[in-house]
Parts: sequence; structure tokens; C-alpha cells
Amino acid sequence: MGPRRVHNQLQGEATLSKTGTLNIVILLLAALAVLSDLCICEEKVLSPRLVLNPSRLYPGEFLVVFLEGVEPDDNISFQTDLPQTTLKAYPYRQGLISLVGVDCRTPPGEYYISARVRGKEPGVWQENLRLILEPKRFTSQYLQVSPKKLEARSSEKWQQDLPHIRESRSRSSDLPLWEEGFLAPLEGRKTTDFGAIRYINGKEVGRHSGVDIAAPRGTLVTAANSGIVCLARFLNVTGYTVIVDHGLNLFTSYCHLESLLVKKGQKVVGGQGIGRVGSSGFATGSHLHWGAVIGSTFIDPYLLVKKDPLDMFDGETK
Ligand SMILES: [Zn+2]
Repeated sequence: MGPRRVHNQLQGEATLSKTGTLNIVILLLAALAVLSDLCICEEKVLSPRLVLNPSRLYPGEFLVVFLEGVEPDDNISFQTDLPQTTLKAYPYRQGLISLVGVDCRTPPGEYYISARVRGKEPGVWQENLRLILEPKRFTSQYLQVSPKKLEARSSEKWQQDLPHIRESRSRSSDLPLWEEGFLAPLEGRKTTDFGAIRYINGKEVGRHSGVDIAAPRGTLVTAANSGIVCLARFLNVTGYTVIVDHGLNLFTSYCHLESLLVKKGQKVVGGQGIGRVGSSGFATGSHLHWGAVIGSTFIDPYLLVKKDPLDMFDGETK
């Protein structure tokens, strides 16, 4: 029994000594890795990359701008010659992301989006990317309404509504609050297209800022995706209205409701009931006006159903 125990002990020591050697080798390798990493850091040069997706689109659509390879404390600025556009960027996956809506009245042609980065390293990095806006024909809508009805959308009524709308969209979550794809808030026949040129009693009054979907009074309207209700109240022109903040400056709005099922500040999930179809405000019949806004630029809301903006950020530049 004695010698065997000694033998076992020796074996144990041998194992220990093997583990010891292994530990030293691992430590050496780790030290080498740290050293080589330090070397990489010292030689590191500022190498951001600007991606636009898509880079060819139509008025009333949106694109995703992604600036990767930047440090949080870098001094970064974006510029564009797209009219009525201010790029607001948010930190996202080792970079910055910005959703950019193109106003439906923007003339076709070539535009640019540029990013300028002044990092800790001396020197400035800048990239200018070209954006092509294709021509698009929008439909026209002709409405005949009584003078009394017209009074609901007078400039005085608009002026009363605007501060509430502006205030609701003045802040947006720094994080995307939406999950997976967007869904239309109800099933129904589209009666007026996004961007349609509107004539009321023969006079051109502007563009249609959303999509009208016909539906019987009382039909449930659901949130197109998750977010936080940033407006839920009566407004002169859009009647009972809900606006949902989805984060990253993206909002959806639901207008002319008969009743509201949510309150301002409430979190909602996609598919949750937020109101019922009606004809409140300036409306000629029972329908839902569904809108999508990036900052203050309206885009066609059905684009969100077709493509999740977050699926576009790392896509190939088209
Ligand atoms: Zn409408």
C-alpha cells in the first residue's frame, strides 16, 4: 500500500507541474496578446466609414445613414443639402445611426450627405457621399367641402394645434423601441396615397402627409410597433390623435379617431389597441389617417412595413 501511495503522490506532483507549465505558457501568450494589442492601439489610425442605404431613392422615402469606426468622444458633424433636413444621429453598434426622411416635395436630382470626424488623433476625416433622388409622380386628390367644414382646418386652428404636435416630437428615445417589423394599424382600402397633391374646392392646399385607410366607425386601430405614446388628445384639424415615439426620431401618428384607448407617456407594444376609427377633426368620412415622421419629415408609412430600418443599417450601399 505504501509504495503505491508514494507512486500516486508522484503522479499527482507530475500533473501539478504539467498544469504549472501550461499556466505559464497561457500567461505568456496572454501577455503577448496584450502587448500586440497595445501596439495596434498605438498605431491605430482614424478609419471611419460612412454608409448610406439606399443611396438612390424617391421623394417621400427614407434612408439610413451609418457612420462606423468612431469613438464616443470624437467630434462628429453631418451635413446635407437635402432641403428641410437636419441629421440627428444616435450611438448604435460602435458607430452612429441616423434615419433621414426625404420630403415628398424635394425636386429630383443629386444631393450629398457628408460626415466629418475630428478625433483624438491629429487631422480630420471627411467623407462625402452622393444621393440620387429619382423623379416621382404623385396622385392628386380633389375635395369639395362646405365652408363650415373648411373652418376646421383654418390657419387659426392649425396654429392652435402646432405647439402640441411640435412638443410631442421634440424628444425621442435614444434607443430604438420598435421590435421586428412594422404592421399596418388596420386592414382596409387605401383611399388617399401618401404625398397626394390636395385640392380643396379647386384650390391646391398642399400634400397629404400620410395614408388614408377607409374603415367602419369603431374599428380598432393598433400601434404599428412598440414605443411610447407622446401625444393622445383632441386637435382641431386631426381630431382625436395619437402619436407614438419609436425612438431614433421615428414617430407614427393616427388621426381622426372616434375615441382614444391610451394616454400620453404610456408604453405600447406593436398590435396593441390605441384608439377607434372615427371622423373627428377635418374629415369627410370615417377613416384612419396613418402617418410616419422622421424628425419633422413625413414619409410613406407603408415603407416601414416593407423594410425595418434596423435591417438596413449594415446592408450593402446600393
Ligand atoms: Zn389623411
